[in-house]
Amino acid sequence: MFAEVIIDQDAKALDKVFEYIIPQDMDLQVGMRVLVPFGKRQLQGFVIKIKDNCDYDSEKLKKIIEKIEDFAAIKGEMLEIMNFMAKKFHLKLASILRLFIPAEMREGKVKELFETYYCLSKNAQINISKSAKRQLEVIEELKNGEKSSSYLGDKYGYAPLKALVEKGYIEKEKRETKRTPFVIAQNDKRVNLNEGQLDALRRIKEDKTYLLHGVTGSGKTEIYMNLIEKVLQNDKNAILLVPEISLTPQIMSNFKSRFGDNVALLHSGLSAGERFDEWKRLFSGEARIAIGARSAIFAPLENLGIIIIDEEHEGSYISESNPRYDTHSIAQFRARFNKCPLLLGSATPSIESYQKAKNGEYELIELPVRANGKSMPPVQIVDMMEELRRGNSSIFSNQLIADLANVINNKKQAMIFMNRRGFSSFMRCRECGFVAKCINCDVSLVYHKEDNRLKCHYCGKQYKVLAQCPNCKSKNIKYGAVGTEQIVQKLHEIFPDVKILRMDNDTTSTKNAHQKILDEFRNTKPCILVGTQMIAKGHDFEDVVLVGIVDGDQGLYQTDYRSSERTFQLITQVAGRAGRSESEGKVVLQTYSPKHYVYKFASNYDYKGFFRKEINIRQTAGFPPFTRLLRILFSDFDENHVRDLLKVCYNEIAMLKEEYGDQIIYLDAMKSPIKRLQDKYRYQIMMRLKLEKADEIENKCFEIVNSASKNWVFFEVNPQNLS
Ligand code: ADP
Ligand code: ZN
Ligand code: ZN
Repeated sequence: MFAEVIIDQDAKALDKVFEYIIPQDMDLQVGMRVLVPFGKRQLQGFVIKIKDNCDYDSEKLKKIIEKIEDFAAIKGEMLEIMNFMAKKFHLKLASILRLFIPAEMREGKVKELFETYYCLSKNAQINISKSAKRQLEVIEELKNGEKSSSYLGDKYGYAPLKALVEKGYIEKEKRETKRTPFVIAQNDKRVNLNEGQLDALRRIKEDKTYLLHGVTGSGKTEIYMNLIEKVLQNDKNAILLVPEISLTPQIMSNFKSRFGDNVALLHSGLSAGERFDEWKRLFSGEARIAIGARSAIFAPLENLGIIIIDEEHEGSYISESNPRYDTHSIAQFRARFNKCPLLLGSATPSIESYQKAKNGEYELIELPVRANGKSMPPVQIVDMMEELRRGNSSIFSNQLIADLANVINNKKQAMIFMNRRGFSSFMRCRECGFVAKCINCDVSLVYHKEDNRLKCHYCGKQYKVLAQCPNCKSKNIKYGAVGTEQIVQKLHEIFPDVKILRMDNDTTSTKNAHQKILDEFRNTKPCILVGTQMIAKGHDFEDVVLVGIVDGDQGLYQTDYRSSERTFQLITQVAGRAGRSESEGKVVLQTYSPKHYVYKFASNYDYKGFFRKEINIRQTAGFPPFTRLLRILFSDFDENHVRDLLKVCYNEIAMLKEEYGDQIIYLDAMKSPIKRLQDKYRYQIMMRLKLEKADEIENKCFEIVNSASKNWVFFEVNPQNLS
């Protein structure tokens, strides 16, 4: 018998199937990891096929040395996913297979944890002298059932245990124990579902994709839980994906409370041991619901009854580091494979997904009102240009300060939100609000400090830095953003006696820091919480009556076609934090572009209006979902080498234009905005394609690049971030 093996190595040359002889006495299964001879080395690999005949000369084939584990870590469905991903995202096979098992398992760093348990021996005539007090205590303790060695050892010492075993009074047994992440389980709170929720439950049952568009607080989570409950009753399993940022203790506790040990959590806050054990609990069928961030889509569950992606619009569902993939397509693949529903939920669906719902590709389900009947808090737009004209050049408007003072007097709470995604900064005139844009692409230009120039991240065009506003001639034209730290400091000056907390990447780098800040906020009144994206999601604070958005434009003039969409999503999300319970809420949104359509629609919570406007703009400008953007990223330590490679590939790809004509809307080669990363020089080919032939052209490009390069080259479709 022979095995097809994929070598677990990074080299491009090894990224193919190798054949090995299976030793006579080896009980090998597809999906097992093995050690194989390779040249003079011994390498690890994955068995992807077992067969009777080999394709190469069997005389020359070598034998598999041994199995690494005794079980097949990769199940049949995963091999299908591997093939799908390799084709769709142009990835190396080994790099895909690695996604399917915990990293620690490959490195051999974690193993099962075994623990010894003691119990009373059956039928033993126990006769212990009164002086052996500890031994008597252990016996008493064990009358209530078995206890672990570490527990007993801590309490009574190990000597009495040993003595009792020798006398045959107690027995020990070694067993695997699971390291489970600690979650506070509360009482499971059941609610009576409303008509909208019941309707959703009735509809979501077929083998297709549903888009659940429900405003914040409309009870989507409750729907997820009910759907999963039904799935378990039908003896099937479920995957729930949430963005890492909203894997809050709150949501985990909700699910643990209802589903107990059926839930396995997969997120970055776990220790290596915990992650390994949670994975194994899923693998063995002990846990049947995988909840986690994007990589949980690879949960080792079979027989799926539903896959749910919450906050489906979140950019974090696209993996932007290698291997690059987008979670939606994999979820769709798995759902079709298992013939089960895929549910995408959001208060602000991505333009792409909503368009698919409009086209009938997805089934749209709407929940237009909050479950508690409360209306969304009113949004007041404050024109910061007007503030400037009135002589207020601080980062806070008079309105925001007045509202904050009010909150403080009433011993309530406020959140101040600062959007600071990415590092790029745009140039803006402080007098008239003018923002420098690319003449070709209509996206804001990015200021590049190192060569003091403005650049378009889509077409590469460069512009001189503006000394003066072309619109109003003012010299007060600046780039850069205010940070959370600066906001806290200014607030301290204005409200010296008020507790002000800060939550951003800097203050939450240590374990549990996140939770500590939130706990402190919960217990302090009055209090102001200043934060980034992190405060935008999933937190339910009853006494937050004011949300301030310091600089709404910060996201708006980011340099990509999704800027408006992201800004709309963020404002809606942040606004959803205010007035969640009895107290009335309010949102103050500061902007230098008060007339921008994003603010008009966001302040009215008008998603549909926003969608209509935005989809029109995308169509006119020729951006996704009407076209496909493709970035081919080359990187290497040797700059000359990348540049040569880029040139060769570019020339060949340019020849495709003859065949495909205007199917290729745009094609150019350039340095990447981040020219050097981890010591590697980065160059890129940017393309914009019409959808009709996009797959075909993309595949041809891949063939060209793949045969020209000795290293792996990365393809990105509609990238979230063009750095
Ligand atoms: P979403 O996920 O859409 O933001 P949630 O599911 O978190 O909304 O629900 C928001 C709040 O409303 C929660 O406190 C939840 O317990 C409550 N809730 C949900 N459904 C109902 C219902 N049918 N009746 C009463 N309260 C509900
Ligand atoms: Zn441009
Ligand atoms: Zn100006």
